[in-house]
Amino acid sequence: MDYDPELGDNIEALETLAEMGYLDKDSPAFGIALKWLHDGEDELSTKQMAIFDKYVRPIIAKTCGVCGEGIELPGLPNVYISQRQLCSYHMYQFNKDD
Ligand SMILES: [Zn+2]
Repeated sequence: MDYDPELGDNIEALETLAEMGYLDKDSPAFGIALKWLHDGEDELSTKQMAIFDKYVRPIIAKTCGVCGEGIELPGLPNVYISQRQLCSYHMYQFNKDD
């Protein structure tokens, strides 16, 4: 398998969210979230999917309040820190005008 820098960024973001207390690193949900990143949604069992939907999706499925685009995982820690639900592009625009 090729090295995937995006995957690395996504895993890092997930770990950051765990450190921030939004996900529990010792929980099955965190392991399932990692599997979801590595293997994709199709590889999750029905039971894993249910756990993912309950504990992980509400944390990571955020859309930009301006353009409605899904916010990518690496942008999420910033969303929680700034409490502004913006994609990386609009986060940049917002900060630029400060
Ligand atoms: Zn946006």
